[in-house]
Amino acid sequence: MSEAILDCKGVTRRFGGLVALDTLDLQMPRGAILGLIGPNGSGKTTFFNVLTGIYGFSDGAAAFDGRDITAYSSQEVYRAGIARTFQRSRMCLPLSVFDNIMVGNHKRLDHGLWANVFARKKLRKAFEESYEEAHELVKIFDPPLAERMFEPVAGFPMIDRRRIEICRALISHPKLLLLDEPSAGMTHEETRQLMDDILEVRDRIKDLSIIIIEHEMGVIERITDRCIVLNFGRKIAEGTYQDVANDREVQEAYLGA
Ligand code: ADP
Repeated sequence: MSEAILDCKGVTRRFGGLVALDTLDLQMPRGAILGLIGPNGSGKTTFFNVLTGIYGFSDGAAAFDGRDITAYSSQEVYRAGIARTFQRSRMCLPLSVFDNIMVGNHKRLDHGLWANVFARKKLRKAFEESYEEAHELVKIFDPPLAERMFEPVAGFPMIDRRRIEICRALISHPKLLLLDEPSAGMTHEETRQLMDDILEVRDRIKDLSIIIIEHEMGVIERITDRCIVLNFGRKIAEGTYQDVANDREVQEAYLGA
């Protein structure tokens, strides 16, 4: 692992009188999987929303891949190489697996009006390449699913929808992937499978860094290199899973002891 891909200093977000995220410092080594954990309402999703330009920073700053992204819009963050999934599945159910993944590929397929009229060959080639790439991505997760690229997403179980959502994020070639509670709504066994998939993705895509939000601490024990624990918007612990699991303040936050 080399230098930090993401360097956040004092990131703060207020909503009126509520401090949803309180002076968060976070350094993310390139190629790592970082777990962001904490009880409900502790500021995890707010951090993703601030980082991806959905909410502005009330205070603090973030540098990504050497660039100051503090004032970036969502599109600028996406173009810089940060892609995310959302806690609630955001799929267009009547559309196919392939179409849903292509939603994440507009960077490459947006050739403008003139290209649509005069550069059809070029467009067709871009489209074919996109299909190959989407197919390869889906295969990492689940080879049988890759044979059903033109079936509507509505017919697939939650775990496959999550996989498709992650493929949609990956098709933009991000350097940092943000996963917001991908296990939400899944069984233990599905969650275990999805965590295996995420490890596989990290191994196959060189230098991809991942931050995963998780409510259940045990779920990410296997897959994270480091964890940060939030409580009431504040970082209360940081370290390996074992470090944070043994931390008294963390245990109190979870158990209310
Ligand atoms: P988590 O993801 O850890 O469950 P959130 O980041 O969603 O927590 O929320 C942190 C706190 O910020 C909560 O108290 C939540 O109600 C509040 N919050 C989040 N978004 C908004 C918003 N748009 N307006 C007002 N309060 C918000």
